[in-house]
Amino acid sequence: SLATQQIAIKSKYSKLKAIDIEFFSGVLGPENIIQEHDEIKPYNIDFTKKYVGQCSLVLTPQNEKQIQEILKYCNEKKLAVVPQGGNTGLVGGSVPLQDEIVISTKKLNKIIDFDPITGILTCESGCILEVLQNHVKSFGYMMPLDLGAKGSCMIGGNLSTNAGGIKFIKYGSMHGNTVGLNAVLPNGTLLDSTQGLRGSQKGFDLNHMFIGGEGTLGIITKCQILCHPLPTSRQVSLIASDDFEQILACLRHAKRELNDTLSAIEFMDYESVKFSLDYFKIENPIRERNYKYYLLIEASSNSCQDQLNQQFLEMLEMMGEQNMYQDAALCESESQIETVWKIREGISMATANNGFTVKFDVSLQSQDFADIIDKTQDLIGSKAIMIGHGHIGDGNLHLNCTIKGFDNKELLKELQKQLEPFVFDYINDKKGSISAEHGIGLQKVNYLPQSKQKEQIQYMKMIKNAFDPHGIMNPYKVLTDL
Ligand code: FAD
Repeated sequence: SLATQQIAIKSKYSKLKAIDIEFFSGVLGPENIIQEHDEIKPYNIDFTKKYVGQCSLVLTPQNEKQIQEILKYCNEKKLAVVPQGGNTGLVGGSVPLQDEIVISTKKLNKIIDFDPITGILTCESGCILEVLQNHVKSFGYMMPLDLGAKGSCMIGGNLSTNAGGIKFIKYGSMHGNTVGLNAVLPNGTLLDSTQGLRGSQKGFDLNHMFIGGEGTLGIITKCQILCHPLPTSRQVSLIASDDFEQILACLRHAKRELNDTLSAIEFMDYESVKFSLDYFKIENPIRERNYKYYLLIEASSNSCQDQLNQQFLEMLEMMGEQNMYQDAALCESESQIETVWKIREGISMATANNGFTVKFDVSLQSQDFADIIDKTQDLIGSKAIMIGHGHIGDGNLHLNCTIKGFDNKELLKELQKQLEPFVFDYINDKKGSISAEHGIGLQKVNYLPQSKQKEQIQYMKMIKNAFDPHGIMNPYKVLTDL
């Protein structure tokens, strides 16, 4: 696989033996062990189909105790493992590089409690995000997190990648919204901080090591998430222009005018929109013609719908009078709102179906978004299409090079080789981040040293060694050369 070539591998881990399988079978029961080649396949390949591992054993524990026993055994025997949730991660972090054992959390899927007074949800880490969203909705609450992969990704994966998504602008990160969690360390120790208290300052907060830890320190088994009251009204508009300066003017204006009702603000270039429209066979809500850039603006509040519509309309009129856009559509119904969101959220799915993608998920000043899309397209010429979209309100751009089909691995490698140094140098020059929300995984492991202070990496390595001295947790990801 591509990943195998990226890293010179010297495996220090033990090879799986029949006696190990016997042990796992004893702990989990044979029904929670997958060894059959065809059944294992989906656990070995990531969402982008670029990273393919060679694992021959998948374990599906049903409770925390079993995870403790499995990890303790793997640690003693020096068997490497990869924690896997919904396997929707986009940086090759959730699949093995070689023959690591996959520990899937999919059977750890109990919703334990929801407290309608505090808004705290307690659940196991293998719960699917959308299931949790629907559960808390029935109490008049919402999850602080929403993203295109909600139907498959799991809350443990969301925490481990510190997933951002479309609500980040209003509700902040998983660091801010996680009240407590349980994590099992490689030696089988359970760290438990699920007291259900928002305020609890008792020295170092180890939870933050696991949030964004990408499965390299331990396995999250349970968590407590702070949910927020569900707004009673929302409105969305789509703004279009060929002039990126106008998009920036609308961004600034919407932030100021909508203030705390602003709940999402997303950027898409036409190429991104087109992928989604073609994939879902839907019409562009802006019918006049195709524009180069689009801005999706969402506001939500507890005021009545008419009041929110009025606020939105006045804002659009003012923007129109000040010549800030060329065209705009204001949604007239909930179903139109859903269509506009489908276009935005469907881009990843549409491009993933089109063929290989060289993906970048970067943070940089919003004024540089159009420039980097144009420069990377110039760099690769007509070999593939560069598309750009993302959470512009947070300065997060998804910059993707889309290649037709899954046959031409040589072209994928060539474009990756051409684009990666260029994009990462550009980001470093602009003092941005090489990973806004998807994490480092395998894809960016070689670029971390040039983008993070040397001393910080040294301390990360010391923390990794303290939690996982044999390095069995998700090896080759995030940090190399331990
Ligand atoms: P996986 O892919 O299974 O794993 C991701 C990482 O977490 C791996 O390193 C894995 O080892 C580790 N891990 C998983 N579970 C555990 C656990 N219980 N304990 C310890 N480690 C664990 N990401 C965003 O941030 N914002 C977006 O807007 C966004 N949109 C997306 C849209 C689409 C269509 C897709 C396919 C992906 C998107 N992503 C986005 C990326 C991805 O969905 C998120 O990173 C998600 O949080 C991963 O969850 P998962 O359960 O699929 O984790």
